[in-house]
Amino acid sequence: MYNYGECEICNTPLQERNIQQDFWIKGRLVVIENAPAGVCPKCGEKVVNAQVGERIAVLLKDSKRIDRAPTISVPLIKYEIETSVV
Ligand SMILES: [Zn+2]
Repeated sequence: MYNYGECEICNTPLQERNIQQDFWIKGRLVVIENAPAGVCPKCGEKVVNAQVGERIAVLLKDSKRIDRAPTISVPLIKYEIETSVV
């Protein structure tokens, strides 16, 4: 088990979790599942170690893999200054 140390923001010991991370790659939103990361239980800060970061970079460069991957649909909403409440 990798020791992630403490959160840089609030100094809480980080806990190892498998997380989802999203990346915009050439205009496409790509989500990587089950990436091991250190997560701060207090403020939610996420840290990946160098090895995981390199692996994620390799996965994101593999456009054939991305083309073959299952897709999900996500909500898309427009930013509005204020929604009128009736
Ligand atoms: Zn924190």
